[in-house]
Amino acid sequence: MKYYPIAKPYITAKDKKSVLAVLDSDYLSLGPKISEFEKKFAKKLGVKYACAVSSGTAGLHLVMLACGLGAGDEVVTTPFSFVASANSILYVGAKPVFVDIDPLTYNINFDKIEEKITRKTKAILVVHIFGQPCEMDQIMKLAKKYKLQIIEDACESVCATYKGQPAGTFGQAGVFAFYPNKQMTTGEGGMIVTNNKKIYEICQSLKNQGRAENDQWLDHKYLGYNYRLDEMSCALGISQLAKLDFMIRERRKIAAWYNKILAPYSELIQAPSVAAGNTHTWFVYVIKIKNKKINRNLLIKKLKNIGVSTKPYLPSIHLFNFYKKLFGYKNGDFPISEEMSEYSLALPIYLGLTEQDCKYIIAKLLNEINRLNH
Ligand SMILES: *Cc1c(COP(=O)(O)O)cnc(C)c1O
Repeated sequence: MKYYPIAKPYITAKDKKSVLAVLDSDYLSLGPKISEFEKKFAKKLGVKYACAVSSGTAGLHLVMLACGLGAGDEVVTTPFSFVASANSILYVGAKPVFVDIDPLTYNINFDKIEEKITRKTKAILVVHIFGQPCEMDQIMKLAKKYKLQIIEDACESVCATYKGQPAGTFGQAGVFAFYPNKQMTTGEGGMIVTNNKKIYEICQSLKNQGRAENDQWLDHKYLGYNYRLDEMSCALGISQLAKLDFMIRERRKIAAWYNKILAPYSELIQAPSVAAGNTHTWFVYVIKIKNKKINRNLLIKKLKNIGVSTKPYLPSIHLFNFYKKLFGYKNGDFPISEEMSEYSLALPIYLGLTEQDCKYIIAKLLNEINRLNH
């Protein structure tokens, strides 16, 4: 039986060689690789500063701190995201205020943001979901009108563009992640990008126990953390970054195959759509089952039994137990997000998948849907 994982990192001989070379060097941490990775990443995104950190979550936490957010502040964000985005707001004692999503792009619905803005609102944490940027013109307009900071969780959307500009470069700061299922990987890892020198300096300090650049050993300016990224990870990141364009092209090919194969079944399945002005870099390829009689979780089980891994993408954050307990959220609060959480399905997407594989996966999917419908 063929087996299809949902994601798989693309690691080449060159990647391995770069990592091994670090092991033979004098620095396993705080060496030359981290600043090389940061400089190259900043250049790729066209920003002034990049700060490598130990995960995307760590990056989001530091940006919240660097933007001065804390107790009493409200941050508008989306419930349809990986839990880390809203959690980062809680880390600093601020309150996430959710806004439902657009039914086609699954990004925050900008039309519904304004009604959630209060005197306490200090920032909007946008999440560019699945590999596609949010409607940034509208969001930047709101930011200007209400003097809000814009923080971008671009962890799923490296190199995706909105009207030609990369996701993560619009607001005060953007955050990327390099977990092995992402478009590029460092194992664990993340990157903060910004054009703001102060935010950059605070993040660099906080990730390294709060030490300022020119502090003497064990002199600490702020309460910091250890969110450093080690040299092996940075070497892998540099090597992965060099082939990122290629890896994204390959993901686009696979997404285009799925789109083509799914086109005749639009009554049954909502394929992903790319909004005008956007480019998509396909962190995941997520479909929505339109027939509400289909038990999506059962469908996932059936597909797993025949070697096709799929996954719900994503559960709605407001319905996680501790969010319900903290804020009293309930079913029905954000219906579009909840509908996606119930009927969405991420299909396998990784380098090496062929058009033949995509046809096989969709044939199995349609077959199982058909059986569940009877
Ligand atoms: C992957 C991801 C993160 C960060 O994940 P880490 O595992 O901490 O690197 C944050 N937000 C979103 C939306 C993500 O997909």
